[in-house]
Amino acid sequence: MTRGEGEAGECLWERTDNNGRICPTWGDWDMKVVSACLAGCRCRYDQRAATGADIEAMVQSGEAIPVCPEQMGGLPTPRNPAEMVGGDGFDVLDGRARVLDSQGNDVTDAFIRGAEQALRIAQLVNASAAVLKSKSPSCGSAQIYDGSFSGRMKTGVGVTTALFMRNGISVSSES
Ligand code: SF4
Repeated sequence: MTRGEGEAGECLWERTDNNGRICPTWGDWDMKVVSACLAGCRCRYDQRAATGADIEAMVQSGEAIPVCPEQMGGLPTPRNPAEMVGGDGFDVLDGRARVLDSQGNDVTDAFIRGAEQALRIAQLVNASAAVLKSKSPSCGSAQIYDGSFSGRMKTGVGVTTALFMRNGISVSSES
């Protein structure tokens, strides 16, 4: 079932319709999870957003819910940029790689915790898909920075993306 009017014309995205009837809950339509920075939240490491008008519109219309895994994992904003060393998000989840910030601090646990919190939200709203910020060590879905803090990229996915994919949530990027 998709967001919009039902067969009888009743609303499917408000909790009640104009007659006070309870409408279907989150699980009854196709919700997506989106990166909060794409929805205009200034939650990036440098306290900036990466706003995408189409993503904002999805949130405004009730099609998507924003999450920021790094903030949800307990990291402050602003924060040092971080990159994965020794692999990508799947390797981090499996204990084969770590996430380090630009000062050498190990922030792996916060990244995993944030991914778990984001997954919790995704599962609460029964999301089967996510649109996440490209190149991020949490949200990237094709390319990530290679761990050298030199601007070089490598093939791989972020920690949250990996956890989403392992739990049956398809992930695409905004670009
Ligand atoms: S963790 Fe994801 S949502 Fe949060 S700032 Fe980074 S890319 Fe955006």
